[in-house]
Amino acid sequence: ESLLSRIKRLDGELNSFITVTGDQALAAATEADALRARGEAGPLAGLPIALKDIFCTRGVRTSCGSRMLDNFIAPYDATVVEKLSQAGLISLGKTNMDEFAMGSSNESSFYGPVKNPWDLNAVPGGSSGGSAAAVAAGLAPAALGTDTGGSIRQPAAFCGITGLKPTYGRVSRYGIIAYASSLDQAGPMAYTAEDCALLMNVIAGHDARDSTSVPRPVPDYRAELNAPLEGLKIGLPKEYFGDGLDSGVENAVREAIKVYESLGATIHEVSLPHTHLAIPAYYVIAPAEASSNLSRFDGVRFGHRCENPSDLIDLYKRSRAEGFGDEVKRRILMGTHTLSEGFFDAYYKKAQQVRRLIRQDFLDAFENVDVLMGPAAPTAAFDLGAQKDPVSMYLQDIYTIAINLAGIPGISAPVGLVDGRPTDGRPTDGRPTGLQILGPHFSEARLLNVAHQYQ
Ligand code: GLN
Repeated sequence: ESLLSRIKRLDGELNSFITVTGDQALAAATEADALRARGEAGPLAGLPIALKDIFCTRGVRTSCGSRMLDNFIAPYDATVVEKLSQAGLISLGKTNMDEFAMGSSNESSFYGPVKNPWDLNAVPGGSSGGSAAAVAAGLAPAALGTDTGGSIRQPAAFCGITGLKPTYGRVSRYGIIAYASSLDQAGPMAYTAEDCALLMNVIAGHDARDSTSVPRPVPDYRAELNAPLEGLKIGLPKEYFGDGLDSGVENAVREAIKVYESLGATIHEVSLPHTHLAIPAYYVIAPAEASSNLSRFDGVRFGHRCENPSDLIDLYKRSRAEGFGDEVKRRILMGTHTLSEGFFDAYYKKAQQVRRLIRQDFLDAFENVDVLMGPAAPTAAFDLGAQKDPVSMYLQDIYTIAINLAGIPGISAPVGLVDGRPTDGRPTDGRPTGLQILGPHFSEARLLNVAHQYQ
């Protein structure tokens, strides 16, 4: 009740929720109380959580931030949603996001931009901007997001919270509206690494309904949180500290790394030589997969349908023209172009080859160090409306995107405020920044341990 009234009071301005499911939440809370009274409640029973509006939720609108799905009521729950409710967590509702998860600022949502609770002139990051803002503003103690190229880690950094993108295949994608299927992963967003560990214990694991989910035992992600870091080898990729990195962000990240040194870790410079190819490779592969995934929105089966179509082609054309926003159309055009006959070898195939090199860069680095550290994003949160052209928005993803191409896990943990500047004549405390910690495939427990030791 207290969170629902806080949402009512603050979210008119923040716009972090698209749908609030207050009645269902209160009913679920009563059920959780009953479980607790019978002594049958698990450790998270009764904990409220917010879900990015990309997760299918039975009987509840699942819009993916798009006009196309504004009228779509999902007929089933995503596997992770099912797991959360079995564990007794209470969904407060569905959070705002960039349309079909395409963006880095939450400004491409059909439901309007989300404001950053730290500074209402700033974006919360994207695409899981609503989830990050809701947690940062205390509207929900935890949220789920998805990350295809940074969409959990970058908004977590911009909003001063912790966000984990698990290894590809660690968490089921069943019932998550697909953006780029070979890159998408769901993960927790919360105040601390410990909270993220608790959520991972619920959502991780094999799912027969997702053929890319990995049948590998799930550890207790809380068990190693307090393991000492003495002797931990930290690699600093030199490509992550070069041109374009804001000096305030760099200082905050380097200060955090000093804390790790004081905890007994050693620092080593490493190189990820194909880093400069990550953005071009991603912006071929992700739009190609997206153009294919989005072909299902044809005005026939579900979602927006235009009025009075004159024939089938007119139905397809107008339903899609009206249902999709500009950024989504841009990606569909890019994707269909690079997949078309005569261009496939030059773009898609080449990008897949580059992807292999990027993955190998990380595998080589992890021969010598345990984890890599660097910034989650090149700047702190930028102003609403500041990134006007799509390419400068794509460049925001420079430190996050290669991780999805490689399939490895990454966490962003808050490491202080940078960039204090006056707003409306009043000084602000500045905007948060995140330290990104990367590890080999299936090293989530280690990443949570490392983030927890700082916190
Ligand atoms: N900003 C990237 C994009 O627009 C990543 C988004 C994401 O991770 N979903 O594609």
